[in-house]
Amino acid sequence: NKQVRNIRNIMRNRLPNKILEILETAGQMAEEFGTEAYVVGGFVRDILLTKPNFDLDLVVETDGIKFAKKLAKKMSGRAKYHRKFKTAVVILPDGQRVDVATARLEYYEYPAALPTVELSSIKMDLYRRDFTVNALAVHINPSSFGKLVDFFGAQRDLKDRTIRILHALSFVEDPTRIMRAIRFEQRFDFRIGGQTLNLIKNALKLNLFNKLSGYRIVHELKLILNEDAVPGSIKRMDELGVLEAIHPLLVLNSSREQVITELERVISWHSLLYLEPTISVWKTYFLGLCMGISKPKMEQIYNRFSFSQTEEREFVHLRETIFWAAGNIMNIREELKPSEIYTILHPVPLEGVLFIMARTKRDMIKKYISQYLTTLRLQTIDITGDDLKELGLIPGPQYAQLLFETKLACLDSLVKGKDEQLEFVKKVIKSGK
Ligand code: ATP
Repeated sequence: NKQVRNIRNIMRNRLPNKILEILETAGQMAEEFGTEAYVVGGFVRDILLTKPNFDLDLVVETDGIKFAKKLAKKMSGRAKYHRKFKTAVVILPDGQRVDVATARLEYYEYPAALPTVELSSIKMDLYRRDFTVNALAVHINPSSFGKLVDFFGAQRDLKDRTIRILHALSFVEDPTRIMRAIRFEQRFDFRIGGQTLNLIKNALKLNLFNKLSGYRIVHELKLILNEDAVPGSIKRMDELGVLEAIHPLLVLNSSREQVITELERVISWHSLLYLEPTISVWKTYFLGLCMGISKPKMEQIYNRFSFSQTEEREFVHLRETIFWAAGNIMNIREELKPSEIYTILHPVPLEGVLFIMARTKRDMIKKYISQYLTTLRLQTIDITGDDLKELGLIPGPQYAQLLFETKLACLDSLVKGKDEQLEFVKKVIKSGK
């Protein structure tokens, strides 16, 4: 079922010259090596979907490390490699990365007396991949530059918008592919194919997730929670039992679902403001997934995810500051002064502030948080530690306290400009003595 189609013209129309040049140079080098070279995977899929993607993954039917070294030399870049996996990455002067993998010639022993067959190594390489749509290759040798290599019906699946695995044992081999299937399905608004869906259900029944390391689960979960269509993916994971398989405490309920839907609005609102620093989107959604789980039970989740001590501490801190700030701000009935809003919210990491914003149903609180994020947080004062030093103050923790109090006074417009701020500080020092 190998269809021959050349997409050279599509590539010339859709790709930047810089990318074409890399592919052509690598193709010529393959010719000089007397071997075949292909660009594979998401890059090819996204050309056909007309989505920009310049992550270049090359597969060569020769020693990939030698190939990468030579390509690096020719294009004035540098090569880093991984001997064990026969993979390399070439980093070009402008920062563009080109991954190079070695397609291994593999021999398949058939049972009984049938002879050993040698399969083309690019085919074997593609067969190890997750889904048909990710198992496309484009030949880049000069004589067949642009020839699409589709062994598994990927073009049909792209047309039908279907995510399909390549063989029935795929999820047994690697259960993280279940999460990848959902990620691609939601990203492209495809559907997971019927048989693939049944195999997912079977794999979950067999508890294959139990064998996965926390590290691999978190890695895939982060990828999902950093995509654009998060609420859809979370609902899909819940519906198929993936959340439960990751950890039974993570199943969806209506309040989690509501917050996650609202988080999508809040996060895109925040990202449109282009405020620094940018947030860690996955952490914000993860807060939503873990909503209502008690502190001791969270331990189970940190353990399942093999969080490092730092990651765990960070997350505990995030949840505690949210708990504290939400407790303060949610109970507010009267008007808050800017200094009061700032005092409540500034200890909370941004992810937590957005989470509180998504969780509250009160417009007034949403307004306060918006005020905090867009102005209060960013307002600066004119005096610094140097000014305090000039006042004869010995450096210490009271510096931070004085500057903080000055900021609060400025937020409420009690003092303006450097002179008034200095006067204010002097008064505070005096009253403190
Ligand atoms: P993205 O657009 O998210 O980068 P991608 O398809 O490039 O998507 P990567 O995660 O960068 O995805 O992986 C690169 C390629 O490696 C994929 O196209 C896929 O063919 C293959 N791959 C990645 N993970 C797996 C896996 N768990 N099992 C099989 N193949 C995989």
